[in-house]
Amino acid sequence: VARTFDAPMRAELMRRRGLVRDLGLLLHAPTGEQAEAGRLMLHYQPQFDLADGRLSGAEALLRWRHPVRGWISPAEFVPLAEEHGLIVPLGEWVLHRACQEAAGWPEPLRLAVNLSALQLRGDGLIDSVRSALAGAGLPAERLELEVTETVLMQDARRAREQLHALRLLGVSIALDDFGTGYSSLAQLAELPVDLLKIDRSFVAALGEAGPRAQQAEAIVRLIVQLGQATGMATLAEGVETPAQREALRLCGCERLQGYLLGRPLESGLLRERMRLSSSAAPLSLPT
Ligand code: C2E
Ligand code: MG
Ligand code: MG
Ligand code: MG
Repeated sequence: VARTFDAPMRAELMRRRGLVRDLGLLLHAPTGEQAEAGRLMLHYQPQFDLADGRLSGAEALLRWRHPVRGWISPAEFVPLAEEHGLIVPLGEWVLHRACQEAAGWPEPLRLAVNLSALQLRGDGLIDSVRSALAGAGLPAERLELEVTETVLMQDARRAREQLHALRLLGVSIALDDFGTGYSSLAQLAELPVDLLKIDRSFVAALGEAGPRAQQAEAIVRLIVQLGQATGMATLAEGVETPAQREALRLCGCERLQGYLLGRPLESGLLRERMRLSSSAAPLSLPT
């Protein structure tokens, strides 16, 4: 019995070990090769202003196509990269690549980039952001950096210092997966945050009937009010249905992101979408 238990565990361990090794090799390859091989890339998920339905920007999301194992989810390899000292070079690659690609987007569109807790804690982040912006010629005002709420609670003082330094560069700060962590309102008020990204779990519950939906709606309303009272905008992530979109509109949420409005796209396809949207196409809803 023990053996049937052990074998899958061993296989899983081997898989992770292999992924860590391959990711390490990929990141230490000469600059540019990762992308040339098409193995590590960014997809971009569009974000919209709810009021007028216009495209407002896009979030960069990492994708890894392993030559043998196929597509690997960032939910799997980002934590592995964090555990094995690879997140800093990986995060740098993301920042530089995303800024370069976004520098070609039409003027007001913003780029959102996810930061890991370890990047925020480290010493190189500010320089790395500054050099990514300068290298790409992207104005700092068009970059939004996403950190999770839990990150900020682990070392609140350090996090606050880092966020203030980033703000001085001119970039804006978003709190990702908001509502799932345990930040105190007092701490939150002291943080230089521009945007609250309402976690997908609340948005998912909004579409349902009954008490769960009512509760989720109350929470979303509270987050929006909190944002309004303290000068933070709100964006709902994971919007999948017209009913959810409507509920979010009634709650006063300002921005939307989710499969209903657009899946993460390759850079080229996103630019296509941007061209269409600049010719004044409103929020396109599936009928
Ligand atoms: P996240 O930053 O909260 O990103 C949103 C995730 O939700 C993405 O998953 C996105 O594809 C997915 N999503 C978007 N709309 C919908 C929807 O309507 N329904 C559902 N069910 N899902 C939706 P993805 O791309 O698999 O990324 C997972 C997580 O991996 C991200 O969560 C983020 O925490 C992390 N990640 C991705 N790229 C990076 C990166 O460049 N750096 C770091 N540090 N983390 C990253
Ligand atoms: Mg994010
Ligand atoms: Mg998120
Ligand atoms: Mg999330």
